[in-house]
Amino acid sequence: MRQNISVEDALESILSQVRPIAESETVPLSQAYQRVLAQDLASKVYHPDADDSAVDGYAVRGEETITASVSTPVRLEVVGEAPAGRPFPGEVQPGQAVAIYTGAPVPKGANAVVRVEDTVRDGTGVWLLKPANAADIRHRGDDLRLGEVYLHRGAWLNAARVALAAAMGYPNLPVVRRPRVGILSTGDEVVEPGQPLPYGGVYNSNSYALVGQVQDAGGEAVVLGKVPDSLEVLKRGLAGVGQLDLLLTSGGVSMGKYDLVRRLLESEGNIHFWRVKLQPGGPVLFADYRGLPVLGLPGNPVSSMVVFHLLGRPLLFKLIGRSDPPYAGVQATAATAFGANPSKRVYRRGVLRWTPQGFTVESTGSQSSGVLRSMVEGNALVVLEAGAGAKAGDRVTVIPLGFTI
Ligand code: AMP
Ligand code: MG
Repeated sequence: MRQNISVEDALESILSQVRPIAESETVPLSQAYQRVLAQDLASKVYHPDADDSAVDGYAVRGEETITASVSTPVRLEVVGEAPAGRPFPGEVQPGQAVAIYTGAPVPKGANAVVRVEDTVRDGTGVWLLKPANAADIRHRGDDLRLGEVYLHRGAWLNAARVALAAAMGYPNLPVVRRPRVGILSTGDEVVEPGQPLPYGGVYNSNSYALVGQVQDAGGEAVVLGKVPDSLEVLKRGLAGVGQLDLLLTSGGVSMGKYDLVRRLLESEGNIHFWRVKLQPGGPVLFADYRGLPVLGLPGNPVSSMVVFHLLGRPLLFKLIGRSDPPYAGVQATAATAFGANPSKRVYRRGVLRWTPQGFTVESTGSQSSGVLRSMVEGNALVVLEAGAGAKAGDRVTVIPLGFTI
């Protein structure tokens, strides 16, 4: 078991242990959102399918419109119309125009479009007040070309990517099986919301933060409830977790006599590392329990969320082969001071704001790992290396929470 390692070494240890899920399934487009694409997808079509109009107006022979102006308008005979989905069947002859609408193929004979706002309709004809603009035609394949791969295996299917798959002609998508991620909370004092809170008790919030964090990363959360600080009950709990790809535990990994998750995994599992040089969340451990990877998160609510973001999220990404970065840093100007930890990297909670001067970040106030409110009021983690605090005006690295780049 390695101890007191850096965040980078912890990440490397995790990523080297995790075997990506090989199984995939096929789901309809409407269920593909927030899944991971299991195969490369080549477009089945051109988009646009034909040279078409980008505006509402008149399809014309561009050379006939060059002299058109408000003082010397050009008159053409309107011989038909081309709404989107109903292409004009004929050919535009000299002296003629066809009323055309956005998305309709440009009829044969025409090579340009005059916008409707630059025309005046006059019975069977139209006056053009401006020359046609060739840029108002979109060309076949400007967006998508038949046979070209636009979405790769590992792509996180966000709204735009699902839309792109639809535009390429796919009704169903091959996606990686969603990993089942067990969430087990521990602690005699931990009580489910809805139950009366005994003196000294605390409601289980970690399980429910983790449900959201697991789903955001692409996993299926399996809430396993909570077990008390009893080795026997914990053992039974671990034995009965069912078919999982990953187990997240909360609490019980510190130095105390009742930190039984660590003690059980020490004797009956294989701990890869315990304790990482970071704050909050230093006591985190990563282990193997009978073939099941276990990320043991510290019980303090902020520690649990921060460590999941830094280590659990990349673990899940590896498991599902998700190719976007699990998180990223931006530079911001500190609006308040942020204190350092002398021996560990710290992740302070801050409010990241966009201002005319660029990003700024302000402390949420109390940085205690028990103050869950700091994760609600804050939207970002300020990263400070051991011994390196920041004063107002300093440039700092910030990891935004809730969106990725
Ligand atoms: P532990 O890591 O077990 O020593 O717990 C550290 C702190 O986190 C204690 O104050 C616990 O009461 C609190 N805690 C542990 N588990 C949870 C949980 N599931 N939800 C909210 N707080 C918790
Ligand atoms: Mg505990």
